[in-house]
Formats: sequence, C-alpha cells, structure tokens
Amino acid sequence: MSKADYDFYKIHGICVKCGRSDAEPGHVMCGVCAGKQAESRLAKWSALSAEEKDAARAKGREKRNALRRKRRADGLCIYCGKPGYNGGACCYEHMLENRRRQRERTAKKSFGEAGRSMPIVQQTGTSGV
Ligand SMILES: [Zn+2]
Ligand SMILES: [Zn+2]
Repeated sequence: MSKADYDFYKIHGICVKCGRSDAEPGHVMCGVCAGKQAESRLAKWSALSAEEKDAARAKGREKRNALRRKRRADGLCIYCGKPGYNGGACCYEHMLENRRRQRERTAKKSFGEAGRSMPIVQQTGTSGV
C-alpha cells in the first residue's frame, strides 16, 4: 500500500490493512486486522529467546534515551519535541503534566506512610524535651 492510499484510508476511517472494513474508533485498522497484527507481533515476540528479548528491550530503551538526549541538547521537550518552556527540559503541557503527576505521587506516598506508621510510631522530633 502506498503512503497516499494509507492516508486516504486513514482519513476516511477505513482499515488501512484490508481497505474494506471500517477502522475502529481512534485506530487506523479494523478490529480483525488489529487483532491479527497483535497476534503476529506477540508470536514474533514469544519466539525470541530471553537474551533476544533483553536485547530488544535494551535497544528500545537506548533509542528513547538517544532521542531524549538529542531533544534536551536542542532545548526541546524530551517527550514530544516541542520547544522547551522557559528553557526547561520539556514543553509547557508536559511540565504541567509532570508537576501534576509528581503531586499525585507525593500525595499518595505521604498518605500511605501516614496510614501505616500512625498507629505504631510516634514522631517526637520537634517537641521540646
Ligand atoms: Zn481490516
Ligand atoms: Zn512536550
């Protein structure tokens, strides 16, 4: 399939694989073709040995890291490649998202620790003895 055909199908919500069925909402393929592709990908993956899987994972990681390094060096968002916000390592949206995620993580963590340690440990750090 040529790039033009691919785009045509994609734009019109037709499966780019078989060109006959409607694509699943938010996807470029119909359910049948997407299922087949996932199956063959899984088959290929499970045919690999443990070392080959490790190598494939390391390769993917290295690729991501290289991309991030390059974006960081260029002053672009390390996640999406848009210009960094205020000279930071990521764009405005990703900075917000990171901040939100960080807050969620901190909230969850302190909540969990408080819940666990409250009945057992008494903190007597700052009360003047
Ligand atoms: Zn299809
Ligand atoms: Zn971004």
